[in-house]
Parts: sequence; structure tokens; C-alpha cells
Amino acid sequence: MKKLLLLALVLLLSACAQPEPAQSDLFAMDTIINVKIWGNEAEDALHAVTQKINDSSARFSVTTEGSELYLLNQDGSAALSEDFSSLLAQAVSLSERTGGAFDPTVYPLVRLWGFTAQEYHVPNAYELEQTLQLCGLQKLHLFGANATLGAGAMLDLGAIAKGWTGQHCAELLESYNIDAALLALGGNVQTVGTKPDGSAWVIGIANPETPSEAIATLRFTGSRAVVTSGSYQRYFEEDGIAYHHILNPQSGLPAQSGLLSVTVIADDGTLADALSTALFVMGLDDATAFWRESDDFEAVFITDSGEIFASEGAASLLSDCVFTVIAR
Ligand code: ADP
Ligand code: MG
Repeated sequence: MKKLLLLALVLLLSACAQPEPAQSDLFAMDTIINVKIWGNEAEDALHAVTQKINDSSARFSVTTEGSELYLLNQDGSAALSEDFSSLLAQAVSLSERTGGAFDPTVYPLVRLWGFTAQEYHVPNAYELEQTLQLCGLQKLHLFGANATLGAGAMLDLGAIAKGWTGQHCAELLESYNIDAALLALGGNVQTVGTKPDGSAWVIGIANPETPSEAIATLRFTGSRAVVTSGSYQRYFEEDGIAYHHILNPQSGLPAQSGLLSVTVIADDGTLADALSTALFVMGLDDATAFWRESDDFEAVFITDSGEIFASEGAASLLSDCVFTVIAR
């Protein structure tokens, strides 16, 4: 009897123990990427996901000579691949939905500030005015699978391509016999399924002052995207002023919206990525109004006074911090 009990206990314990996931670290899409997959076909799935990430990296890189995006920007027109078309269609629709706060045509401004080559430069009013004229969604024309850009216009998909890739990896994983997956593409996290031991995903939100530490945690089970845009992620300083990489497409200046970071939680990774950038540009009040009109995402905001605000649905997932709930 004792032996049987012991055996049952051992079986129970081994059922609860988390099997090791297949995992891989890679550098792609300008960031460090970590993929973990649990389940029978984890190794095959990992191979497929890695391929998808490398393919996205090669296709959507704005700086890699010969990438699909590079060629479109260089030639001013292109016949688009299916993936590129799919991403661009969503980029346009999210740009319209956010009133241009997310704008895939900001590349001339991103270049002017030197964020691409990391040759930083604070532009003068004349340079800003000239460059702003090259930007705007009206410079992009889509005819089926063909895209054309107005003179001097160029696209930047940096604020949406990682989210799109996470989302498409999640969809790709549906055809493999796996239990769960965790994809971290820089500040973009995509969860798939539930870990074998049934435990919740625990996703940290970076402390904008010390980004390697979490200021808060999100806990949930199942498949979701959690994407953070923060001014701490890329910036330079000149004469004691910090200039960061999320630009207000209206002024051409780094968005000064009173926020240090925005984390968006959504079922769709592409949406979460574009919205994290857009809500950062909007600032807390406009972003709150935008959330109230929407039903497809939740958000956590960190203001420059260090306060944390969470939309109702995000609040129910948030712990390890003091925060204010934004009600519907
Ligand atoms: P990250 O890529 O650092 O995680 P984001 O998703 O917020 O952060 O994307 C920021 C990048 O997107 C910038 O580096 C720039 O290339 C581009 N970008 C900057 N401002 C905007 C904007 N308002 N709309 C769309 N893209 C932007
Ligand atoms: Mg983004």
C-alpha cells in the first residue's frame, strides 16, 4: 500500500514538473529574440518559427540592402509579396484608425533624426518642415499587390513588423502538435497555449528607469500578445536633452506625451505593436478615450511622474505594483 502511494505521488509530481522547452536565442529584426516551445513537435516547430523570423527580418528590414522594404523605398514602387501586402494593409488600416498617431510613412523623419544609422542629429525647424512634407499616408498608394510611393516618401515598418511576425509565428504553430510557446521579440511578447503544468504566463513590464528590472507583472493563461513601446528603448542625448525614437508624425519631434511607456495586451500581435506606438504618441487622455471606443485591446501606461494606469481588463491581470484603474 505504502509503495503504491509513493508511486502515485511520484507520478503526480512528475506530471506537475514542467518539461524542458525547446528553445533558441537569435538576433534578428534589430533585436534579441528568444523562443521557447513545449510539446511533442517542439523541435520542428522551433525550426519553422526561426525560419519565419529570419524571413521577416530579411523582408521588412529598412536598412538591409535588397530587402523587400529597402527596394520599395529605393525604387518608389514594387510588386509586393503576400506577407508584405498583408502587413502593409494592416499598417494602413491601423494608421487610419489611430488618426495617424501610428504612421508607417515616418521613415524620412526617422532618418533625419539619425535613428536608423545611429548617427544622431537634432534637426532645425527648416529641416523638419521640409521632411514633414515627405510623410503622410496620402504618399502611399496601394493597387492590389502593387505599392507606389510619392516622391521622397519612404516606409518604416519598425513599429509593427515584430508584432506581425509574432502573430504569424503563433498562427504557424497551430499546425504543430505543441502545448505552448513563448516568443519574446525585444519588447514584443507572444504567448501560445498553456504550459504543460498549467501555470500562468508571467510577463514583466520593464521599469523605464531601470529597464532590466520589472516594475509590474502581468499574469494570464492562454494565447496573447503583450507589446511595450517606451521612450527608454532607443534615445540619444544632446546638450542634456534626451531625444527618443517614437516620433509624433504631426510635429516630427519625439512624442512628448507625458508617458514613459505603453504596454498593449491583445489577441492580435500586429494590432498590439502598432497600438503601443500610437498610444504612446497620443498620451494618456487621448489613449484612454481611444480605448473606451475600442474592444480589442487593454493597456498599461507609465507616466513620466512614475504613476501606473491600467485599463479595466489589464488591471485584472496586473500585480506587484500600485496602480490606478481606468474604468470603461
Ligand atoms: P520598438 O520597435 O523599439 O519596440 P515601437 O514599436 O514603438 O518600438 O517602434 C518604434 C519605431 O518605429 C521607431 O524606431 C521608428 O523606426 C518607427 N516609428 C517612430 N515613430 C513612429 C510612429 N509615430 N508611427 C510609426 N512608426 C514610428
Ligand atoms: Mg510598436
